[in-house]
This record gives sequence, structure tokens and C-alpha cells, in this order.
Amino acid sequence: SANRLEGLRPSVWVEFTQMVAKFKPVSNLGQGFPDFDPPKFLLDSLHKAALDPSAHQYPLSKGHTPLLEAIARYYSPLYKRELNPNSNISVSNGAYGCLYATSQAFVNPGDEVVIIEPFYDCYINQVMLGGGHLKFVPLRATKADPKTSQDWAIDPDELAKAFTNKTKLLIINNPNNPLGKVYSKPELKVVADLCQKYDTICVSDEVYEFNTFDGLPHERMATLDGMWERTLTTHSAGKIFSVTGWKTGWTIGPKDLLDSIAVIHSSSLYCTVRPTQIALAEGFERESSLVNDPTRSYIEELRNYLQDRRDELCSGLKSVGIVPITPSGTYFLLGNMDIFGTPFTPGKFGSGTRDYQLARWMYEEVGVGVIPPSAFYSEPHSHLADRFMRFSFARTPESIDKAINAIRKYN
Ligand code: PMP
Ligand code: GLN
Repeated sequence: SANRLEGLRPSVWVEFTQMVAKFKPVSNLGQGFPDFDPPKFLLDSLHKAALDPSAHQYPLSKGHTPLLEAIARYYSPLYKRELNPNSNISVSNGAYGCLYATSQAFVNPGDEVVIIEPFYDCYINQVMLGGGHLKFVPLRATKADPKTSQDWAIDPDELAKAFTNKTKLLIINNPNNPLGKVYSKPELKVVADLCQKYDTICVSDEVYEFNTFDGLPHERMATLDGMWERTLTTHSAGKIFSVTGWKTGWTIGPKDLLDSIAVIHSSSLYCTVRPTQIALAEGFERESSLVNDPTRSYIEELRNYLQDRRDELCSGLKSVGIVPITPSGTYFLLGNMDIFGTPFTPGKFGSGTRDYQLARWMYEEVGVGVIPPSAFYSEPHSHLADRFMRFSFARTPESIDKAINAIRKYN
């Protein structure tokens, strides 16, 4: 193998999706994918595309034109600027493809990349593949007994100390997987000011942009003063239309930065699947026509559905003694697992931090799929996560019920 593979972290998804196949849990609240149906209008569009002989050859490298146009139309009001479909949007193979192209396009060996923790796990291997040097700044609990995701915040001094003249990128995930934190504008401004001071590109992973709850707005980093020019925002159709298997994502940003991403994208993947892009274009056109009709918009329907499932999961977990950190966004929440103590001989469920071992126990003995949250932390900070477990509520009420009933047997 090439030297660049050394030091990369094994993928938590590879391990725990294999656990699902092996142990067939009664209910899987692990990997983040909806276990309910995608919207019928989108499947109808894909069906129509599948039967159209002209829909099956390569799209343009940067994305199929109708999708680029539909994204520009839908997002221009949200970004408060006229997005150019030809120069401000670049479609790739999911948010992963977008993020990978970004680190390849901007990180030189020795460059520093500041990552806010918890982070989405793929950032670190992707940055390391570019030779980047990682610097981690964790969200800190602001209360002794935090109850919601909003009780965690960046310490501005700690963040400022992480920046140097070599800081090429800062990566932030808002809303945050796995905590569910949704950043306020003043919080983003602290990050934005440092990016401007140190001439740093801000990579803002906003794949859960529409999954915010309790009326909390999603603030876009790129709309802060002075940030459009230096922000690359990552989006994912999987999360917007409940089709994670379509693996279609896009980056929105200024032309000069997207031009560099285009070199990596056209040299690696070249382009992504066309029929799904056709269907997504129709999906966004539909959403654009319904922005003033929240009762019919799928994006709003999904937001309400997820908020209800969040509430069900929080009360179910409380009823079995797992204290949830109520999330303001995403598909996920962290539950405090102190009630279980150590229900097995340490080492019986493999190596690694306590939450990894507890997660394996959950699959093998409890019959519930979960994800250990230290996967989203650097090693020195993994203790910040190891009392917790990540549960996904992008699930049907039946899946949530089954999981709670299975856990109830163990406490
Ligand atoms: N970023 C975050 C925060 C995620 O949770 C995920 C997983 N959906 C991704 C990126 C990757 O998204 P995609 O499936 O579109 O590649
Ligand atoms: N983003 C999804 C999650 O957080 C998982 C994606 C993957 O399996 N790589 O659960």
C-alpha cells in the first residue's frame, strides 16, 4: 500500500454496518439513514427518468444542467445572492465527494486545518490524505448538567489559539452530527472573524440545513459579512429528500474556489449519476414552487416528522434511564449511558474506548444498533464522548418503540 494509508482511522461505518449484517438487531438506530419511505414524487421522477432513453449518458462534469439551475433557483434567496448555476455550484458523489475534493484542492502538505469537535469522521482521513496537519477544538459544555445541544459552545479563546498563519482550512459542521447543535449567528461570527483574520477558507458542512427544530433558524456561514468569498458550503440530497443511497451532494461557493475543486472532481470522479440528478432537479423545482406553502413542502414535512421522532426518542430513552441531550437539529442525539455502568467484562466486546465496547454490546446482546460518539472526536478528546451513545431518530415510530423495548429489558 501507499505510505499515505498509514495513520488513517478505520471507518466507524464499515465496522458498525457489518455489525448490523452480523447481529441483525431488533432495531437499528445506528447509521444515519431514514428507514421510512422517500417522497413518492421523487421516486416518480426517477422512474420517469429511468424509462427515458435520453437520460442515461454522462452529464456535465460539474453537474447536470437542470439540477444546477434548480439548485440556483432554490438556494439564491437562502444565500441572499443570485447564484450562478454555471459557476457557483459543483455536484459530486454525495457530501463525501464534495469534502474530499475540497481538501485535495486546498491542502498542501504541512498546512494546518482547524476542525471543530465533534466532527463528521471523514474530515480527518480526507485532510490527512492531503498531508494536512489537524488541530482540534472541541465544543465545551457550558453548564455542569447540560440538557440540550445548545448547552455546548465553542470557547472563543481556545479557537483563537488554534489559528496560525498556516491555517488553510477550518471545518465546521452546522447543524452538528452527532450532538444536534445548531449554531447562532453570533457563534458563527467568532469563527468567521478568525477565518478572515488568518485568511482561512471555511468549509461549512451544512448537510442537515433543513433539519432544525423548535423554530430555530439555520444560519448559513456564507451569508455572514465577508464570508461568501472564503466559504465552501457542503450540501447533501440524501438528507434533504431522504435518499441517502442516491449519494448526490453539491458545494456552493465563489467561482475562484470552485474552479480548483473542479480540477480535482474532473480528474477523479469526472461526473456523477445522471438519472438521480434529473429527479432531484424536479424535486427542487417542486420545492421552489412551494416555499410559501409549508403545508405541502416536503422539506417542511420532513422537519416536522423528525421533530416528532426526536421527541419520541427523547421520552423513550428517559423512560429507560438514558438521559438524552435534546438536539436542536439533525437526525441524531447523544444519550448518557451512565445507567448501565459496565455491563460486561472489559475487553469482551473488543478494544477501544468505553463507548465503542458498549456499542458492540448493544448490537450483540441488547439488539439495538447505535454509533459510538468518540468516532467524532480526536483521541485526546475522546473522553468528552465516552459516557454517551449516538442514537438516530430518522426512523419510524415502530423502530423507535422496538429499540426502547429492547433496552428496557436491560435496566
Ligand atoms: N457530513 C455529515 C455531517 C454527515 O452526517 C454525512 C452523512 N450523511 C455526510 C457529510 C456525508 O453525506 P453524503 O451521504 O451525501 O456523502
Ligand atoms: N452520515 C451518516 C451518519 O452519520 C453515515 C454515512 C456513512 O455511513 N458513511 O450516520
